[in-house]
Amino acid sequence: MALDIKQQDFTVERDEEKCIRCQVCVRQCANDVHAYDKDEDRVTSNPKSCAGCQRCVALCPTNALAVRRNSSELRDNANFTFQVVKDIQKQAEQGGILLTGMGCDKPYTIYWDHMLLNASQVTNPSIDPLREPMELKTYIGSKPNKLEFSNGDIPEIRTKLAPQLTLETPVMFSAMSFGSISYNAHQSLARASRDLGTVYNTGEGGLHKNLYEYAANTIVQVASGRFGVNPEYFEHSAAVEIKIGQGAKPGIGGHLPGEKVSAEISETRMIPQGTDALSPAPHHDIYSIEDLKQLVYALKEVVEYEKPVGVKISAVHNVAAIASGMVRAGADFIAIDGLRGGTGAAPTVIRDNVGIPIELATAVVDAKLREEGIRHKASLVVAGGVRNSGDVLKAIALGADAVYIGTSALVAMGCHVCQKCYTGKCNWGIATQDPYLTKRLNPDIGKRRLVNLLHAWSLEIKEMMGGMGINTIESLRGNREHLRGIGLTELELSILGIKHAGEGW
Ligand code: SF4
Ligand code: SF4
Repeated sequence: MALDIKQQDFTVERDEEKCIRCQVCVRQCANDVHAYDKDEDRVTSNPKSCAGCQRCVALCPTNALAVRRNSSELRDNANFTFQVVKDIQKQAEQGGILLTGMGCDKPYTIYWDHMLLNASQVTNPSIDPLREPMELKTYIGSKPNKLEFSNGDIPEIRTKLAPQLTLETPVMFSAMSFGSISYNAHQSLARASRDLGTVYNTGEGGLHKNLYEYAANTIVQVASGRFGVNPEYFEHSAAVEIKIGQGAKPGIGGHLPGEKVSAEISETRMIPQGTDALSPAPHHDIYSIEDLKQLVYALKEVVEYEKPVGVKISAVHNVAAIASGMVRAGADFIAIDGLRGGTGAAPTVIRDNVGIPIELATAVVDAKLREEGIRHKASLVVAGGVRNSGDVLKAIALGADAVYIGTSALVAMGCHVCQKCYTGKCNWGIATQDPYLTKRLNPDIGKRRLVNLLHAWSLEIKEMMGGMGINTIESLRGNREHLRGIGLTELELSILGIKHAGEGW
């Protein structure tokens, strides 16, 4: 066997005085970091395979464990950092593409943290959300540019309205396929969506029959591999989303290895068990906006114009012009996934180097659609690094109708962002199909934690809106006067379309 010269990412420290040799850590670690030595009656560790998921630390009954970043660094080098050297060593060993999970973790500017929200003082007084009604209801779909009413004592709307998704809060769960995440994780998302009055998204992995009952809260995706796409799929949905791209891997397809294609996944995706599920990079029938339009209208025919049909892309350099084309192709909503959007598996080099931050994409897409007079024709849903209620409000003030959250939802269910989803050995029972591991996520608990998270965010959103003196989320949409930049250049402020902190109205 070749010598493994890579340094470990983590160190595992076990306090021998506290350890009662219960072997919980041995049983909990799918990476075989811990082992029980029967002869010596002691538990040992091999930190080289530690993913840093912190499962053993969380479950050790005596708090005997600590998993820390490996402090044994190389000589300081701003160019060839520990990670750069490690990646080269790994590729020299394996000769393949480096894979990773979750979103880009590079220290690019997080624009959410460089924008500040406004609050009312004296004039336009703030509103107390405990005493006054606050409206977070959001409608996703194409809107008419004007309404026509009938004459008469009680005028009725004559304009035919396009189908809408109704959300009780402007936060949706983003596309995560059954295959990339476990059935229990999918079930948690579906059940939480129903309780919260929002939607989850099947991703490109089809829809498990047991989840048909959550149809009113399900967005079904049509991706390049067309996995699981059949008439029943559309029947059990509230909206359809054509997936062209995703933030973590713009421009490339997907790959679910055959070993993860279990009997259930095979049935749901409609592919043979044990075969690789390969999503091609492009849709083989889409090479232009006109082609996209044909697919949008083909799907509208399928759902008899009763459900919104949207299109999802990754945020790339020309995102505003592409978004304009998507709206002109008839999309009822457009979803834009930014640079920090998560994934179950992506080449590290693509995840970390391709795309643009969602904050900038949101601002330029909203501005472009307004400039062209077509903003009302489609809702704008943005994703990729939305971490808290402050980010949600800033996204809406920049011009989004709603946000998608993926990583934050997984963290609510127990994910510790170890980025090892692509190994299929998620110790938290989320990004895995191993029956021993999937049991670890109880869907009752998963659902409850997701409901708690969005409930808490909704309360915070209402508090912040009240502070701004507005009582409907609609009034904040695209209202960039409620944002000010801090620590940004003139060009960044101009792209975001906001003033610098300290500038008045
Ligand atoms: S879980 Fe904690 S107490 Fe149990 S064997 Fe591991 S380190 Fe020791
Ligand atoms: S889902 Fe699991 S494997 Fe993926 S980052 Fe979270 S804890 Fe790690």
